[in-house]
Amino acid sequence: MIEKLPWLTEEQKELADQVKAFADANLAMGEQVIWTREFPSDLLAQVAEKGWFGAPIPKEYGGKNLGVTGCCIIAEELSRICAALTAAYSVTMFGGVEQLIKFGNAEQKQRWLPQIAKGKLGGICITEPGVGSDAASIETTARKDGDDYILNGKKRFITNAGLADIYCLYARTSDSPEDRRKYRHLSAFIVERDTPGFTLERINELGGWIGLPNGYLDFNDAKIPKISLLGEEGDGWKVLVDGLNFERNLFAAGMLGPMREGIRYAVGHSQRRIQFNQPTIDSEINQFKIADMFARLATARLLVYHAAHLMDMKADAVMAATNAKLYASEAYERQMIDAMQVMGGDGWTQFYPVEAFMRDAKVNQLGAGTSEVMRMVLFRQGLRVMSEDLTMPYRKIHETLNVPISSTTRSKIAEVTEKSVLQMMADDYIVNPGLHMTKGDMVGLLQTTAEEKLVSVLAVLETKGLVHLLRDRKGRITHGKASFKGLKKAKPSEAYRWYPEWAKKLLKL
Ligand SMILES: Cc1cc2nc3c(=O)[nH]c(=O)nc-3n(C[C@H](O)[C@H](O)[C@H](O)COP(=O)(O)OP(=O)(O)OC[C@H]3O[C@@H](n4cnc5c(N)ncnc54)[C@H](O)[C@@H]3O)c2cc1C
Repeated sequence: MIEKLPWLTEEQKELADQVKAFADANLAMGEQVIWTREFPSDLLAQVAEKGWFGAPIPKEYGGKNLGVTGCCIIAEELSRICAALTAAYSVTMFGGVEQLIKFGNAEQKQRWLPQIAKGKLGGICITEPGVGSDAASIETTARKDGDDYILNGKKRFITNAGLADIYCLYARTSDSPEDRRKYRHLSAFIVERDTPGFTLERINELGGWIGLPNGYLDFNDAKIPKISLLGEEGDGWKVLVDGLNFERNLFAAGMLGPMREGIRYAVGHSQRRIQFNQPTIDSEINQFKIADMFARLATARLLVYHAAHLMDMKADAVMAATNAKLYASEAYERQMIDAMQVMGGDGWTQFYPVEAFMRDAKVNQLGAGTSEVMRMVLFRQGLRVMSEDLTMPYRKIHETLNVPISSTTRSKIAEVTEKSVLQMMADDYIVNPGLHMTKGDMVGLLQTTAEEKLVSVLAVLETKGLVHLLRDRKGRITHGKASFKGLKKAKPSEAYRWYPEWAKKLLKL
């Protein structure tokens, strides 16, 4: 039995049982979609009937108030059935619902949330023909016209295109460079399907997500009323970024079902496939692949439900949700490759659903932000979040061990002179010979705040060829190290020598 993580509420555990039972009963229906290529409208209607579209919606608007965790539970189980059903559900959740709950006013919530709770579909419109990963460069414009806005532009790759009743759309409302610099140039809107001037331009024929419409939207002087604007004009980037954690995590939750099914087919098939007079699951090689599949699933589930829990607690979840999306999307693809390998040629036929899951796997590294974008976010956020833990340890030669070792006590410079600064750099060469010192390293070794004096001394040392300096675009010193000439001037050459005992013996030093 798949683990219900211990921190789920009783209501969420009950939900998990209900959705699992629904998925178990409808797996065959999901498989049919692979052959018929028909969108599973009946299944979607049943999902709506059960009230699962209302999972994150407050009860006063007809929802169930089960939070991000509730949505993830639903997406995980639906994704065992088929991608079209899961994506239609999940995109609705992060294509309007989340934004309305967080940024909508009472009138907007009252107008749209109860409809969605009953199963009206949503869409999210960020991407354009010329705008992908660089979402801030959105070209679609929204021009104010009295109390209305006029939309002009095209959106592409829009999931639920044509199916959705409402679209959460981001458009440019300012061309001022100052607004662009401050990310105040975009606004967020809820656009209804029957808006005059809004048409479905074309449908993408995708390599997976069979049966689900994904397409281009065209907005040609499409007039939308004032009530469409979410938050204030200029809040678009804030709304967009705020919704990304939920989007990424829900996307990741929708990868857990196929990862589970992959294990089921790999185990079931290899228990029944006899080669060399034994079931192929008896081969250790296959067991190790299946072991990795269990490990990946467990890790991906922990990441997803941990991020969901953080979001439900209103805690910062940028790292957690980004990591969940990145890890799950790469683990999902690997999971299917392993499942197919364990199943041999059967795995690559369309007579088992693993092949369809394999085709669906790739898009998860593209949609909702590519893996590269996830890594860019993790790199930046990681440096920020862990900044206190990432200070480079100060190193010096240990008095008795006579080896470079980190130290909490540092000998600081009382007076900033050419001699003392050069000595500091020579000492650093002894413990970090291949590295420059950052300006922060140097300032940290001054007894008093004498930054200006340090900068002027460094400049003089540079003109004398005693140090190498690195400067930023504004000409400010960022790094420095003693040159060969500087090292020679700072200390006698013996000061830099160091040999281990074995080398001393061997080389007679
Ligand atoms: C099936 C599907 C469904 C989608 N659904 C929606 C939807 O409902 N709504 C919506 O708005 N969008 C949707 N998208 C769009 C999706 O979000 C974009 O495809 C994604 O953001 C990447 O944009 P792009 O495809 O234009 O790739 P590009 O941005 O052109 O990138 C191409 C490659 O270059 C890399 N790259 C780009 N810039 C950098 C950089 N600075 N550093 C390192 N690498 C970089 C990317 O990671 C990628 O590998 C969907 C996409 C797909 C495929």
